[in-house]
Amino acid sequence: MKRTITHLADGRELIYFDRRDDADRSAIDRRMLDPRPVASELRYDPLTEEWIAIAGHRQTRTFQPTGTASECPLCPSSDTRSSEIPAHDYDVVVFENRFPSFSGNFGTYSEVGGLSEVRPGAGRCEVVCFTSEHSSSFSRLSTDQVELVMEAWADRTAELSGIEGVEQVFCFENRGEEIGITLAHPHGQIYGYPYVTPRTKLQLAAAKRYSKGNLFADVLAAERAEGTRVVAANELWTAFVPAAARWPYEVHIYPHRQVPDLAALSEAERSAFAPLYTSVLRAFDDLFGVVMPYISAWHQAPVRQDRELAYLHLELFSIRRAPGKLKYLAGSESAMGAFVNDVLPEEAARMIRSQVDHYQISY
Ligand SMILES: [Zn+2]
Repeated sequence: MKRTITHLADGRELIYFDRRDDADRSAIDRRMLDPRPVASELRYDPLTEEWIAIAGHRQTRTFQPTGTASECPLCPSSDTRSSEIPAHDYDVVVFENRFPSFSGNFGTYSEVGGLSEVRPGAGRCEVVCFTSEHSSSFSRLSTDQVELVMEAWADRTAELSGIEGVEQVFCFENRGEEIGITLAHPHGQIYGYPYVTPRTKLQLAAAKRYSKGNLFADVLAAERAEGTRVVAANELWTAFVPAAARWPYEVHIYPHRQVPDLAALSEAERSAFAPLYTSVLRAFDDLFGVVMPYISAWHQAPVRQDRELAYLHLELFSIRRAPGKLKYLAGSESAMGAFVNDVLPEEAARMIRSQVDHYQISY
């Protein structure tokens, strides 16, 4: 694997991850770009003890409703068209988001009252292009390609963890128009947050109160013992629908070894993850024979705290509950954080498992 760091016309970093050591990465970004926007501001909600990023500048970001390859900013550049990626080809590429929620480019931030505190949204937001093929999808990537993406995730996790002020690194993919994705090109994002996220805080607080061992490891062991919600497994990973799933179709994927983050996975673990994950993604698409919108979220340990308690895992879920029917976060979920799931998790598991390639189910 070869890693090449370059810069775009407005100074943002762009990093190529290549399988071939002789890949030519000398292409230069010659576009005229506006100066980079300043970081959003963080405001503290004293009632929920959460930080909210207020990113006014994001309202002006480019919207790409058509999503055709000829206008796509994530396709490689050609002789006649310049995209975000100056090269004419790539394997996997990562670059700083042009309209980031968090960055190191601070503006001025005034006090706002209301018992809130204000501070700059320090951190970093990156875009990861999973493949140069515009009309592909993560589910169709080869094992080699997924391994290269995982190398990029691990690299960025380690790198962003080293940035002053970054407290947690989040690698994720939003897929599908129904999720609000504006670019069809297969890509994900990486956030380096300047705080530990609310969901991670809750999970770690529960793990701290649990006295019988590691809470995450025990959930995994219990799901494997129960078996009815396991949808795929191999020697190093298990995928299951959680007993108290929030979403109609939700799968959690755990490595069998407790590690804090993606950078700590072994080569064997990365290789074993690739076919299992793409198999689950294809099963999602096969459930109703239509593209399944999903959010795929890597839960990693905070950078500076509770690393021995945390347990790297992926949480994948879809808002589709039936063909033509989406689950919306309405009153109970949005206002009260109280989820109502219309699909029995055991039934969801049975449906997903029946679509997963047979060889992925032995454990
Ligand atoms: Zn594209």
